[in-house]
Amino acid sequence: MNLKPIITNSLSSQDRHDLHHENQHLKTQLRALLDSVGTYRGTQRRFENFELKLLECQNFKKLIECLIETISVDFKLEKVSLTLFDPNGISREMLGTVLPYPKQLDFVDHYQELCAPFRELQASGIWPGGTSGAMRPQLGSQKEYIKLAGFSGYPIRSVAILPLIRENLLIGYLCLGSDKKDRFDPELAIELLCHLSAVIAVCLENTLSREQLHQLSQIDMLTRVKNRRAFDKALRREIARSDRDNLPLSCLFADLDYFKIINDTYGHPTGDRTLKAVATSIQEQLRETDILARIGGEEFTVLLPNTEADKARDIAERIRLNIEKIEIPDDQGKIVRLTTSIGYASWHPGIIDNESIDDVHRRLMATADKAVYKAKQSGRNRVRGEQYSQLKDS
Ligand code: GH3
Ligand code: MG
Ligand code: MG
Repeated sequence: MNLKPIITNSLSSQDRHDLHHENQHLKTQLRALLDSVGTYRGTQRRFENFELKLLECQNFKKLIECLIETISVDFKLEKVSLTLFDPNGISREMLGTVLPYPKQLDFVDHYQELCAPFRELQASGIWPGGTSGAMRPQLGSQKEYIKLAGFSGYPIRSVAILPLIRENLLIGYLCLGSDKKDRFDPELAIELLCHLSAVIAVCLENTLSREQLHQLSQIDMLTRVKNRRAFDKALRREIARSDRDNLPLSCLFADLDYFKIINDTYGHPTGDRTLKAVATSIQEQLRETDILARIGGEEFTVLLPNTEADKARDIAERIRLNIEKIEIPDDQGKIVRLTTSIGYASWHPGIIDNESIDDVHRRLMATADKAVYKAKQSGRNRVRGEQYSQLKDS
């Protein structure tokens, strides 16, 4: 704009009119500019608030909920979809009981498959080429974008596609859909979306590795069943649950017979393979809600929620018979067989007055331990029970 110094008293009335007009025009422009700054600030605040919610997600499940449900509400979106690269099924395992997954959530096992839709769009010139362009979010109303988002057939008229990148690799993509054609206009500044997709990618990676680490700390690396720490935690949880629901809780202790001899005769590696086979065999006899753990070298425990003593004895017997059937070839191909002694104990809320969770924990373990000792004493390869209430404080 050409801003010449103006000496107002030498102006003609036409000049004054033009000046007034120009002044009005500038004021309108300034107002529009301030409005758009205001709108941008509002949008920026909305993004910041949402990013804070993402960062506050304590676990993977919460994060996924935030990325699918909270985002729809906070940004008033008609549709959202999230596709994640999940080569080892770990993400699906973390979500566990959320099954069946909401339609908006998809997992891809192979990297080529994950990248394929982007490669196709790049080949036809719809998605920007080159590495840097390919990684930036894209906005638009092309039917190809709507299809990639999985929104075909829905009244979606514009989408934002956010590739999620970690260390230059695509780990998934988030698609936001609106029924307004100009909502995700390609001309819009996408800096906020770039920032958001980077935050999402970091949050996904962080929560997954944090949970994986936690899971690893709860697992026995040889047999992949729970370890002692996880068992103790599960036992406390089950005691509290049984108490609340007034249901019985049983516990089995299985101690393999003469396992030292197996190791000494066939070698430690064969012993290890036998332990794995035992864990698998026990697990096969259990319900989804039962909890199996390896709590010592050749000692396994099983928690049986909502199970009376008689039923616990039957299950223990089934486990014992199945362990008898295990055949493990040693390094020379010679077949190794083994047996186990199992003790069982059952607790019912109120069986002893005023017990704390710690009391029940200690007594139930001590009772099952006493029962397995009895099984050993009476000749091994057998099941023995012990009355919970008869056991005095140890
Ligand atoms: P019992 O019938 O009285 O239970 O006899 P046992 O030989 O099973 O009992 P003992 O407690 O004397 O020996 C347990 C053996 O378990 C000793 C050890 O060599 C073996 N063991 C412990 N942990 C492992 C392991 O991780 N791998 C292998 N292969 N063996 C293990
Ligand atoms: Mg033992
Ligand atoms: Mg033993």
